[in-house]
Amino acid sequence: MKTFYITTTLPYVNADPHIGFAFELISADIIARYKRLSGDEVFFNTGTDEHGTKVWEKAKEEGKDTQTYVDEYAEKFKKLREPLGLLPDVNFIRTTDSHHKLAAQEFWKRCATSGDIYKKNYRIKYCVGCELEKTESELADGRCPVHPNLELQVIEEENYFFRLSGYQKKLLAFYDANPDFVVPAFRLNEIRSLIKEKGLEDFSISRLKSKMPWGVSVPDDNDHVMYVWFDALVNYISAIGWPDHLAQFEKWWPVTQFAGKDQVRQQAVMWQAMLLSAGLPPSKQIVIHGFIQSGGQKMSKSLGNVIDPLALVQEYGTDALRFYLARHVHPFEDSDFTVEKFKEAYNADLANGIGNLTSRIMKMATDHLSTPVSDPNPGSPLPFGFTQHLDTFNIQAATSFLTEWVTSLDQKIQETEPFKLVKQDKEKGKAIIIELVKDLFAATRMFEPILPETAAKIQTLIAGNNMPSAPLFPRK
Ligand SMILES: [Zn+2]
Repeated sequence: MKTFYITTTLPYVNADPHIGFAFELISADIIARYKRLSGDEVFFNTGTDEHGTKVWEKAKEEGKDTQTYVDEYAEKFKKLREPLGLLPDVNFIRTTDSHHKLAAQEFWKRCATSGDIYKKNYRIKYCVGCELEKTESELADGRCPVHPNLELQVIEEENYFFRLSGYQKKLLAFYDANPDFVVPAFRLNEIRSLIKEKGLEDFSISRLKSKMPWGVSVPDDNDHVMYVWFDALVNYISAIGWPDHLAQFEKWWPVTQFAGKDQVRQQAVMWQAMLLSAGLPPSKQIVIHGFIQSGGQKMSKSLGNVIDPLALVQEYGTDALRFYLARHVHPFEDSDFTVEKFKEAYNADLANGIGNLTSRIMKMATDHLSTPVSDPNPGSPLPFGFTQHLDTFNIQAATSFLTEWVTSLDQKIQETEPFKLVKQDKEKGKAIIIELVKDLFAATRMFEPILPETAAKIQTLIAGNNMPSAPLFPRK
């Protein structure tokens, strides 16, 4: 059996789960479910990134002990599993787990043994928003392009550095040999030109404990903690047992990673160089998605346009949120999301679409068929028009294919009018109804990764030859 290991990035625990992260989680879950449906053995990882300055300051601000603060946030993220309809066996790693901390320390030692970690006195500009050091080449008008409203911190201290500059050639050769390493391809081209034009600079990977104690201790140096990114990136291997359960690690590695477009440098450059330094194979693929805006603007509390994924689930249901994100949010580019658009799409695609189609077909089936349709081909392969898009992580195109399938069934009912035909030619009418039930079943096979709850409901109706007792998606 083939194995497939997929992960999201770990969200930083300084804010409640937002729609952008719900999108990343659900996208990864759809691919995980699809791979499982295709017969792969799947490990799906998510969790929380809990160290660093921002968390430490936020806990102080709220007057809480840092551990208590991160425990509360981790719980909020852990609780997303049910409302977002994630696979029940999704793994949840916390970077404050003791196994993870030991893995981060072992990883550090490997990089040090490779000669890639050194200490120097340095003055850096640091964006607390990104929790990243910003080199001059990354700044726009002297500010972080992602957080232009935040003052950059100037930090002067003795820190450990990672020799990223030593990996320029190796990374370029790796990208050339693996043109699909980053999806979509234009993101990989961006990195390539960045490396070719500006080169790679070494980056700081520690903080003085006396200034910021909330991190994993640097091995053999009690004055320093690891820089949050260095420790957090290691979660992708600590989650599958590295370094003490090597058989498990080797079973699952390498990983397919989902990440936002602000993560390209960390995931596709820094992390890959770190893996090479530690003597481990690179990740398998990095899938980069865009950002979700609302009403043409970045979501912010002050603009009052923040979309709460859990509020949508409460009003419309889990599958409604999953379907909207799959169907109407671009997998790779930025998208706009408003509650008005969501409601409109809900009524069109689900209430009038899938929900209504199911009622129509099952009404005819219960009226005219005396027994459930047998053998609706449960093991039949998914249509190529659907799988080809999921194989390239284009969830939106796959979901469009599914929507067109539903529309074509509606048309088939209109053209053949089996509910009339059955009164004139009973056998002919019944044959068409049976065909429609089988087509509906085939559609539910495609619903399984995207609308798992709905797929199961409709399959149960088909198996019992029953009508839905209430609309699957009531009009809103
Ligand atoms: Zn920033």
